[in-house]
Amino acid sequence: MPIDDNMQLLQQLTSLCRRYGTDAYVLGGGGNVSVKNNVVMWIKPSGAFLKDMTPDSFAQIDRRRLQKLYQMTPPNDWTTREALVRETMASASNSPSSLRPSVETPLHDSLNARFVVHTHPTLVNGMTCAKDGAEVVKRLFPDALWLDYIDPGYTLCIEVRQAVGEYARRHGHEPSIMFLQNHGVIIAEDTPEEVDRLYDDMIAKIKTEYQKADISLDLSVNPMPAANRLAEAKEKMKQIFANNGFAHMVFSGRFAYARGPITPDHIVYAKTFPFVGEPTAESVDEFIRKHGYTPRVIIWDDIIAGLGTTPTRAQLALAMCHDGALIEQLAQAFGGISYMSSRAYKFIEDWEAESYRSALLK
Ligand SMILES: [Zn+2]
Repeated sequence: MPIDDNMQLLQQLTSLCRRYGTDAYVLGGGGNVSVKNNVVMWIKPSGAFLKDMTPDSFAQIDRRRLQKLYQMTPPNDWTTREALVRETMASASNSPSSLRPSVETPLHDSLNARFVVHTHPTLVNGMTCAKDGAEVVKRLFPDALWLDYIDPGYTLCIEVRQAVGEYARRHGHEPSIMFLQNHGVIIAEDTPEEVDRLYDDMIAKIKTEYQKADISLDLSVNPMPAANRLAEAKEKMKQIFANNGFAHMVFSGRFAYARGPITPDHIVYAKTFPFVGEPTAESVDEFIRKHGYTPRVIIWDDIIAGLGTTPTRAQLALAMCHDGALIEQLAQAFGGISYMSSRAYKFIEDWEAESYRSALLK
């Protein structure tokens, strides 16, 4: 394919990143977009934020070399398997190793459509994280593919490949919309205009359902407590958390937070459970012993705080807590929230620990 055409594809992809990189669609480094021709695919690298992408910051993948991934018999042991997958993806990449291809790369490559835009929109997750999600999708989006919850990584790729293959055998074409339970949505189309049209239609349809059920699209948040209360809370939390690296905090008035884990991204940025109550050295120690991590969200009477090792991480923890609360509110339109199972969230917790360990190795 001529270079000019490739440049045009990358510019179109960058425009999609701008449009779908807003808080309504993803928070933090969540979501992913890609564009492909027969030879190569460009995809957002792991950890990058959609909104920050430029035409030269995508990872370029040799699609032929990536094929190895689908032919191998994967080792059963999770760590060995994911390491092998990462290695195969790295060897298929034409980009510098700083642009590490995302774990979702093979999933994007498996779809025939030229553009793939995968996001975690709050309004859509009000449906994918609801008890009646699968039935509602059948009614509202009869042509879409619904996928019950799947662990992220290689498993997600292989199961989506199989489900898309079955769908294609039945319908004569691949699905354009794929809903992932407790995760988000994938839209796959040949032009950015078609992607936008499907996203707009989807959001409009789901919004109508919230209106019919008389559910507000906004979360009600109590006003910030008085300045002296905030200052005292901040001082106290600093004493407890600053010495283990969590020196940054952001505060919000109280809202009806979610009691359980909603999607993998919520766990990645805000951890599975918040700390509830007055934080003291003893109560926080006990939380850490019980859960195995320092809490990222503190729910303390009239205050909700996000904690982080950097200002961005503290902000994201609070934003994720807010997002989870809104998803739980929206899910009331579809039978109420369905939290991730303990098996599913433990998998993410282990995965986090694992990637942290492997990051330390570098
Ligand atoms: Zn995702």
